[in-house]
Amino acid sequence: MGERPVDLDVETNETLEAVRTFVEAQAEFGLTEFRLARADADAPLADLYESIRDCRMCGLCENRRNVVFGSGNPDADLMFIGEAPGAEEDRTGLPFVGAAGALLTRMIEAIGFQRDEVYIANVIKCRPPGNRDPKPEEVGTCKPFLERQIEYIQPVAICALGLFAARTLLGTDEPMGSLRGRLFSYRGIHLIPTYHPAALLRNRHWKRPAWEDLQLLRRVYDNADC
Ligand code: SF4
Repeated sequence: MGERPVDLDVETNETLEAVRTFVEAQAEFGLTEFRLARADADAPLADLYESIRDCRMCGLCENRRNVVFGSGNPDADLMFIGEAPGAEEDRTGLPFVGAAGALLTRMIEAIGFQRDEVYIANVIKCRPPGNRDPKPEEVGTCKPFLERQIEYIQPVAICALGLFAARTLLGTDEPMGSLRGRLFSYRGIHLIPTYHPAALLRNRHWKRPAWEDLQLLRRVYDNADC
């Protein structure tokens, strides 16, 4: 006797389609293993994602394809935080894909972690048109979502990727040249700024200082009581 087709409701079908798209996008960028987080630890983050996946609180909702929430381990000790999604991120719904994402993966692995062990997010969750800088009102509206992600994950250390993320999290207007190479505190969490991977792809002279920043991040992690 043949198997009877199963009738799935529209919502279930949409959920399965979203999972399929997510897994395909992960595989497309070389991520073949998926860490299953504890359900209790994952719940607040999952609830937060559900609450903003259709967010229309600022004008960036008009042109986005996907809210790019973040990806990785909800129990992560390290968080990497960038500026905002680009075109590939908007298409896939995942942060740091494409060439800059591949470089970030290598940076993470260079200090002894796998990408799925850490958590990766951006300050802004929807792509600014033409990759323009986010406006102050967009930052003000969206930043609380990142603050709640950090609050739920409680990492040992944050690596701020690029000047925008570093300035936004630290509330400063100092240049990257004076921010990088130093250890800061963000709400009691160690924070180390370094260059954005996209900037490193454009300027190879920044790779040495970025490597020094990553080594500092690793030392901070090793010396932390976690
Ligand atoms: S950028 Fe942030 S605040 Fe604006 S629509 Fe997207 S999720 Fe909402």
